[in-house]
Amino acid sequence: MKQNVSTPIYSITPFTLLDYPHRSACILWFAGCNMRCLYCYNPEIVFGKGSISFEKALQFIKNRVQLLDAVVFSGGECLLHRKAISFITKVKKMGFLIKIDTNGSQTKVLEELIQKELIDYVALDFKAMPANFEKITRSNLFVPFAKSLLLLLQNNIPFEVRTTVHSDLLKIEDIREMISFLENLGYSGAYYIQHFVNGSTIEKLGESFKELEKHNLATEKIKIHFRG
Ligand code: SF4
Repeated sequence: MKQNVSTPIYSITPFTLLDYPHRSACILWFAGCNMRCLYCYNPEIVFGKGSISFEKALQFIKNRVQLLDAVVFSGGECLLHRKAISFITKVKKMGFLIKIDTNGSQTKVLEELIQKELIDYVALDFKAMPANFEKITRSNLFVPFAKSLLLLLQNNIPFEVRTTVHSDLLKIEDIREMISFLENLGYSGAYYIQHFVNGSTIEKLGESFKELEKHNLATEKIKIHFRG
């Protein structure tokens, strides 16, 4: 599902200190996604059309040279867009750090970006193991996700793995299985568990309980950080 529109960006967050670790950044929110996660907080971005062209976004970014450290590509799924690689190349050339927020489905695009040394940091969504993946994302994209995870590990790209948890959708045993999966692949470091917060989501979900915090989920190599 490649996007082929002249205005692929839904909106721009001009300034944040919260998204790129220890750096100032702006965020480009790309319209469109190839998943339909039940808990998605951005249905207007997933289903909506963009209104900002790459040219307009480049102009905005050019005016932030030496004012911001980084540009975050988010969405939606930013790597779906046909001209994402050439656009990111232009932004990198201006001297910005590049962060990609991705659901991991676009392994080939990610690979090309890594080969071209265009990526400085990645936030990779780990939605679920295969048993729950389709139910939660309404997609069958677990295999590409796993390939992207391996690719990041093999290339030593700084990245974080994060999972949104709604207590009806993922149980403690599911999370333990996900942690084992990460560990078996050689992942070490931070694993961010983001508690679901009720709001405008793709599917109307009931209240979620923060049960995971009662458990010691950390392993020798993986530290658990809760968000939300
Ligand atoms: S939460 Fe799911 S549906 Fe929403 S943008 Fe991310 S991958 Fe797409």
